[in-house]
Amino acid sequence: VADAIGNTRDGSFAQLGTSFLTRLPAAPLNAPYVVGFSAEAARMLGFDPSIADDAAFAAYFCGNTTREWPSQALPYASVYSGHQFGVWAGQLGDGRALGLGEVEHGGARYELQLKGSGRTPYSRMGDGRAVLRSSIREFLCSEAMHHLGIPTTRALCVIGSDQPVRREEIETAAVVTRVAPSFVRFGHFEHFYSNDRVDALQALADHVIDRFFPQCREADDPYLALLGESVLRTADLIAQWQAVGFCHGVMNTDNMSILGVTIDYGPFGFVDGFDANHICNHSDTSGRYAYRMQPQIAYWNCFCLAQALLPLFGARYDEASRGERSVEDAQRVLEGFKDRFAPALEKRLRDKLGLATERAGDDALANKLLEIMHANRADFTLTFRHLARMSKHDASGDAPARDLFLDRAAFDLWANDYRARLSEETRDDTARREAMNRVNPKYVLRNHLAETAIRRAKEKDFSEVERLAAVLRRPFDEQPEYEAYAALPPDWAGSLEVSCSS
Ligand code: AMP
Ligand code: MG
Ligand code: MG
Repeated sequence: VADAIGNTRDGSFAQLGTSFLTRLPAAPLNAPYVVGFSAEAARMLGFDPSIADDAAFAAYFCGNTTREWPSQALPYASVYSGHQFGVWAGQLGDGRALGLGEVEHGGARYELQLKGSGRTPYSRMGDGRAVLRSSIREFLCSEAMHHLGIPTTRALCVIGSDQPVRREEIETAAVVTRVAPSFVRFGHFEHFYSNDRVDALQALADHVIDRFFPQCREADDPYLALLGESVLRTADLIAQWQAVGFCHGVMNTDNMSILGVTIDYGPFGFVDGFDANHICNHSDTSGRYAYRMQPQIAYWNCFCLAQALLPLFGARYDEASRGERSVEDAQRVLEGFKDRFAPALEKRLRDKLGLATERAGDDALANKLLEIMHANRADFTLTFRHLARMSKHDASGDAPARDLFLDRAAFDLWANDYRARLSEETRDDTARREAMNRVNPKYVLRNHLAETAIRRAKEKDFSEVERLAAVLRRPFDEQPEYEAYAALPPDWAGSLEVSCSS
């Protein structure tokens, strides 16, 4: 392990300095052990996957040895602020996470972060810990999303301990090692905006531009261009979430990545029986973050980001008109969200329906399907997966999808329209099926699958975490030996509740 992490350096974010972060070691965790490990994430970092077999691995990746990391400097907790549930929450920050530095491999740089590694100056009332349950969920979902082709932070491993952690009941502690090109959030910008630290705001924006969006330097207004990049990436990301039925659950501005990657897996969920109003977070009583709200909320969050960046805009205007023109510019860039999101989702829905061409009625056809899925609570993942079995010639392949609808007549009406539309496509059924099976996953991280892995892990059997992770790494493939992982949720899944408690 020591050799592998020998390549870790203090990253360029850490070098922004003390206005941005506080350096401190992790809090030790008693007798740590490996719960989950992603050999693939290890390889991405240039680590030999055998490091997980090293007796010291768990100690390194729960933070017990952070003083010995060769990055030389101590790990760091960064400060950010944000809007939580639509309300300005003031200063937040890495209350239970520590940056370990940066690794370069294969021409890319990745930041490593421990989550659950103890209290920091930004812990407020929290204990700085994460429980095994939520750590396993984060680990599994990071890997699942990546293989669905959705931008996300990755996860290298979950390290557990029997050390107790108090939530609604006593649970045990765990630490996830997350990996991302950057952990900068909208909330980092909001922090310096709200504290009137235009110098720090600019330094942060320059860091993000230099590292990730160097092309913005060519724009008339580099900071406006930065906003534009984030807005478009966010729109693309949400289109991808909607297209697989993923609900984030806590789309606060501090949980929004400036790079448009999915970050902070808490009470997330994939919808089973489709309900457009599905709320996956039990603590979200008003449904602010319901499935159908996610696009609007993302737009609202982009608005917060735009406001935070406003002091940087318009350097090219004269002093008298700068304010007004900057606001107009920002509004125009924000409009880009809508221009990007709607076509992005429409394209994904056409792909999900297996339509290689674009026709006037396609949106209506897709929306009608979602409407009857909603009315029937038809399983989101299976409905789309089974559409591939339908034929453009006759109803011989309708049954698998049709059987998911209580109202068969409603399905049949839609199926007639769908078949009529398919007959306008030159592609034959076989080619269409193949294409559809590459965009409609068979396997997603349903709550009950995660729950089963968690229950076993609590009994020290970690094999299900590994098995489930392996299944989710091939979400589009038929895996006959794992048919059960693609099945409708069992009855007991209906009573599972996921809250902010993690
Ligand atoms: P979240 O709702 O998970 O995005 O977290 C919001 C804020 O609370 C962030 O600043 C987190 O770092 C912090 N936080 C969440 N859980 C804990 C915890 N157990 N201990 C300390 N800080 C926490
Ligand atoms: Mg968070
Ligand atoms: Mg969280």
